[in-house]
Amino acid sequence: MPTTNDQRPTTRIGYGFDSHEFRNGIPLKIGGVSLEHDKGLGGHSDGDVLLHAITDALLGAVAAPDIGALFPPSDPKWKGADSVLFLREALKRVRDAGYTVGNIDASLILAAPKIGPHAATIRMCVAQLLDVHANCVGLKAKTPEGLNLENAAIAHVVVLLEKLATPKRAQKKKARKKK
Ligand code: MG
Repeated sequence: MPTTNDQRPTTRIGYGFDSHEFRNGIPLKIGGVSLEHDKGLGGHSDGDVLLHAITDALLGAVAAPDIGALFPPSDPKWKGADSVLFLREALKRVRDAGYTVGNIDASLILAAPKIGPHAATIRMCVAQLLDVHANCVGLKAKTPEGLNLENAAIAHVVVLLEKLATPKRAQKKKARKKK
């Protein structure tokens, strides 16, 4: 049962944006899924533009520092890093704050490759990472018409968090007391 001094709002919204440039001869990963393509997304980590935007949406929802502050590109530790690591840290912060993911909605903007044939796989992978059902992960892909951004991939993400009945910290405390 929530305590009477539980001031946490029932829901919180988060928004994340990211963009990366395509580069020849590197692997392409979007939403934790490796896609066949002649170019990949450059960046200090694995360049997974979708996971980065989701990570920032989660962090923003609990007013935590953003992905660049937590995992600075200037730190060699994150060179080539799997972006799943960033997402896991954001998710941990969400749970520590007493929330769980309700649903997310993402828009990807890129000229190629076509996302349609891979959308179900990407949604499934993101759902698994967030520990939600695949029908809680929306994914739309757009081409950058009129934007002159043929060599970039862009992701916009909104996330809705729902309050856990008992915050994770309180759950841990309770578990310790029982021992
Ligand atoms: Mg990024």
